[in-house]
Amino acid sequence: MRNEPIVPPATIGMMGGGQLGRYAIIAARTMGYRTLVVDPDPSAPAGAVADVHLIAAYDDPAALQRITLDCDVVTTEFENPPAGALDHLAERVRVAPSPASVRIAQDRIAEKRFLVDNGFTVGPYLVLDEPETVIPPGVVASVVEGGAIVKTARLGYDGKGQRRVADTAGMHAAWAELGGVACVVERVLDLDLELSVIVARTADGRIEPWPVAENRHVDGILDVSIVPARVDDSTADRAIGIASAIADALGYVGVLAVEMFVVGGELLVNELAPRPHNSGHWTLDASATSQFEQQIRAVCGVGLGRTTMTAPSIAMVNLLGDLWANGTPDWSVVLDEPRAKLHLYGKSPARRGRKMGHLTVTSQVATEAVERALDLRRRCAR
Ligand code: ADP
Ligand code: MG
Repeated sequence: MRNEPIVPPATIGMMGGGQLGRYAIIAARTMGYRTLVVDPDPSAPAGAVADVHLIAAYDDPAALQRITLDCDVVTTEFENPPAGALDHLAERVRVAPSPASVRIAQDRIAEKRFLVDNGFTVGPYLVLDEPETVIPPGVVASVVEGGAIVKTARLGYDGKGQRRVADTAGMHAAWAELGGVACVVERVLDLDLELSVIVARTADGRIEPWPVAENRHVDGILDVSIVPARVDDSTADRAIGIASAIADALGYVGVLAVEMFVVGGELLVNELAPRPHNSGHWTLDASATSQFEQQIRAVCGVGLGRTTMTAPSIAMVNLLGDLWANGTPDWSVVLDEPRAKLHLYGKSPARRGRKMGHLTVTSQVATEAVERALDLRRRCAR
């Protein structure tokens, strides 16, 4: 496929219409690109802001044809567009990240094998794919005894498709409960900290990373991100080095998020997201260039923006549907705080665990930003 820069008013196609797509579309339109979103949900958050919203399945032949006719480049905002549909598109139009990169990131087995084969460190794990596969008991015990997590290889997110187990019998029971589909089993690690590194890479190998984020999860869902992460410079440099090397090894084009565990001071790769990431939402409010603008720049093969921070530190807290339990939160609490920014994605209804929005607070000091952000979230609930 040709590699010339794609400049406005070219048309960008987006597979997926969630909040990540919404911000990327807004960034694209700001720069003067035309935009087309595919999402079967008529109320998809990105559909509301795109020039065109194709309400269709991702592998719908008519939708695919329309994309190839209308779009100059196609990108994605979630890891699960059917890889076959991306292959079909990639034969006809520029697709970034590549179907091969997306395929790796959408399957935990392929992802771990790719990481291990390329010399990146992951935690102890084993693969459950075929029922008749015999795994030596010693191998099972080394992963499972002391606690493990069974994760479906495909289609899991926000802790969905995961079961914690205590022993080998529990592992088999959980596997059956998850439908006997291909799974990975990971030892439960004693985490010092969770980090993520987001980088953008262009087809000609230019890479721009953002500062490392420190992430806290509740029930498997991201709850808080703090940037810069409160780790020493050498850990942050190593984390950025790992994420950049992964992007190079994939020949990646676009924005890539790498989730990492810190265990006993060592960095282990948890998983990859072939797209902008929840832990990068802060870039909308405290980075010279947001992850969404950078995604558009990278996939279009134009210059990358600077990623320097515009505040000493920032905290982001997610607003899940749970916050709506007693009615719409009182947003004036957040809007009255000059250092806070409110983001709502236009989703309805507000179900438990559903990501409805987020808020950020900038500060001189990270700890203070987190406390303030959590306090605002607490106080806006009815
Ligand atoms: P998802 O695709 O749902 O984000 P993850 O594999 O990232 O799946 O798991 C979600 C969260 O669960 C992680 O961010 C971490 O907090 C916790 N977790 C996952 N795997 C492990 C593990 N092996 N040891 C300890 N905690 C884990
Ligand atoms: Mg994760």
